[in-house]
Amino acid sequence: MTACKLSIIAMASLCSILASGMATAEKAPEEWSRTQPYPVHEVYYPGTEALAADEMRVIACGTGMPTPRLKQAAGCFLVELGNGEKFIFDMGEGSYERIAALGIPLDQLDKVFLGHLHLDHAGDFPAFYFTGPVNNRLQPLRLWGPNGMKPEWGTRAWVKNMEEMWAWEKATRGSVVDPRGLTLEVNEFDWTAVNNIIFDEDGVVISTLPAIHGEQSVSFILEWKGLKFAFSSDTLPSTGWRDHAVDADLSVHECFLPPEMMMSKLGMAASEAIFVGTQAHTSAQAFGKIMSLTRPRLAVCYHFQNDHDTSMAVYSEIRKTYDGPLDLAQDFMVWNVTKDDIRTRMAVPNHESFPTPPQRQKQPPDSMKILGEMFSDTTLNSVEPESAAVTNAQIKAFNERNGTDVKPGLTAVPFMDKK
Ligand SMILES: [Zn+2]
Ligand SMILES: [Zn+2]
Repeated sequence: MTACKLSIIAMASLCSILASGMATAEKAPEEWSRTQPYPVHEVYYPGTEALAADEMRVIACGTGMPTPRLKQAAGCFLVELGNGEKFIFDMGEGSYERIAALGIPLDQLDKVFLGHLHLDHAGDFPAFYFTGPVNNRLQPLRLWGPNGMKPEWGTRAWVKNMEEMWAWEKATRGSVVDPRGLTLEVNEFDWTAVNNIIFDEDGVVISTLPAIHGEQSVSFILEWKGLKFAFSSDTLPSTGWRDHAVDADLSVHECFLPPEMMMSKLGMAASEAIFVGTQAHTSAQAFGKIMSLTRPRLAVCYHFQNDHDTSMAVYSEIRKTYDGPLDLAQDFMVWNVTKDDIRTRMAVPNHESFPTPPQRQKQPPDSMKILGEMFSDTTLNSVEPESAAVTNAQIKAFNERNGTDVKPGLTAVPFMDKK
């Protein structure tokens, strides 16, 4: 492989193609129909492409920082396999809406792996879990996360605290819509174990490596059908990564802005910029070095604001220590990975997304029963009768139109006999 010297914004994908000699672009047809869609897409339209039986698709649903940003959610990568299984790695703030924009039924997104419990890697998990029922998830959710330096810092305690913190949310939401998705299987594992297999189902093996990031953090490796996906979560380059992420097909590792840029762009003091950018996280040059040591088919860096000016700085730093295939991740970047090819594109997400339909028959609870259990006299005495009458007429008309017999709940109260 030769060093890629392209100096344009779109360098990342181009360089990956040039450096690896991969011919990933689809061939344009010589002629095509006037009425059928043009058959070649240079972008990925979610929900329109089948996965081959031996194909892996990875979608960046968050590539940014704890800093809120419309352009980039915090860390989150979705892995879809040709056997139908899907895995979410980290779920930072803002990533849930990226996932929703892909139009995948939530019942198919039932496995979440958290590398550590910082908000920029776990912050959207509570919303993903608790709003599952209103987004048609009827399937229990499964979560994997590290144990803690102290028991109260581990994933099991985190979930217990989360359930307590959102107890009212869970009770109220679960009492009006089908609550079956509000069940969580928690799998807490030993974060210190090297190459520790935490998942082994349907030919998919996921193992962890201790990460160097405030303790109790891990990196992940997913292997399936001879393909290898490595995801660092947050870490300094580690010996575990060096020894076990070697020869990955897709190697997604964190990488930070140069310290001077963190000072100018983020207002950090010099000591903060050096510590955060080189000691708690991987500098761009260090990213390049660990990629040189592990030689993935395609290296992907994430966890920095990827803009027209910052990307050049990060790219230049990486190229001081690494000359192999490289992508600078941004939200909705997509990789199709097979033994023969790795194709990088951008997804065109659905900005108008609605939840996909439920995958099975819904079983909503009895709303009249809830009435007696959930509401106080304060509420029951506050229902305004004339507005309630309008609503009751609306429900009556709905029943006539649809052949249903849905009863009003709260709006029936003003017209009930009061004993
Ligand atoms: Zn972190
Ligand atoms: Zn982070």
